[in-house]
Amino acid sequence: MPIEVKRLCHTYLAGTAGEKAALKDIELNIEKGEFFGIIGHTGSGKSTLLQHMGGIMPPEAGTVIVDGYDFADKKQRIEGRKKVGLVFQYPEYQLFEETVYRDIAFGPKNMGLNEQEVDEHVRFGAKFAGVDESLFEASPLDLSGGQKRRIAIAGVMAMKPEVLVLDEPMAGLDPAGCREILANIAEYHRSTGSTVVLVTHDMDVAAENAERLIVMRRGKIALDGAPEEIFTHAAELREMGLGIPGAAALAEELRARGAAVPQGIYTPHDLAAALLARKEGGAC
Ligand code: ADP
Repeated sequence: MPIEVKRLCHTYLAGTAGEKAALKDIELNIEKGEFFGIIGHTGSGKSTLLQHMGGIMPPEAGTVIVDGYDFADKKQRIEGRKKVGLVFQYPEYQLFEETVYRDIAFGPKNMGLNEQEVDEHVRFGAKFAGVDESLFEASPLDLSGGQKRRIAIAGVMAMKPEVLVLDEPMAGLDPAGCREILANIAEYHRSTGSTVVLVTHDMDVAAENAERLIVMRRGKIALDGAPEEIFTHAAELREMGLGIPGAAALAEELRARGAAVPQGIYTPHDLAAALLARKEGGAC
């Protein structure tokens, strides 16, 4: 089991007037090789949960166990978090080296790789994130917001993590850039069998990529299941301020107008197949 979350709690500003319980008794098991999606309204606790999976803060109560490393123990947390590639919501704020190359190379160097291996890892990360090699000697600080975002993602991917944890990695990228990064994440997941945890506000992205999804609400897990199961809870999702995927909304509209479109449709591919099946069956 690569990620086990056991009765995890997190309270910000504990003991002050601004005290906020961000995570309340979270229980969660993520299987090795799973593509796991997390959705939820702003403030529901998604980023806090991801930061615990990345081992960047100690559990206040309960624990997170990644690949057998128990993060309640400081030593194990420092060791275990090396397994996790964590892409923050605004990773561009973490660029600090003088050149793009050195920034992407920072992680691989810390892994104790030799120069040639570091170079191979840097090129892999750069290709993954769409960072052109002509930028290697530039200062990250001189680049655009989108380029900085790509460099930060390249730096994480250059470590070829077994567990990839991403907090809205496409935020702020143009639509083509989003599609490209997402396709590369999916390909990395397929080709390496790595575990991917993705927080997204985009229901279509969640529907089309995640094998399993949780919906967070006020620091708890409100729903947990396969996408086809989660998106049958349309009314509940709307009540939480979330939408449903475009294909699921269209299927709902067609049903409301009397078309016999089956339940459990949430991707364009499934909707097209259902409509074609109706046509072939003479129902259209
Ligand atoms: P999400 O990622 O779903 O938007 P977060 O995990 O960022 O949710 O936040 C969960 C709750 O904790 C929110 O109410 C948020 O305001 C609060 N919170 C997050 N970070 C801090 C912080 N550094 N200090 C105080 N409160 C915080």
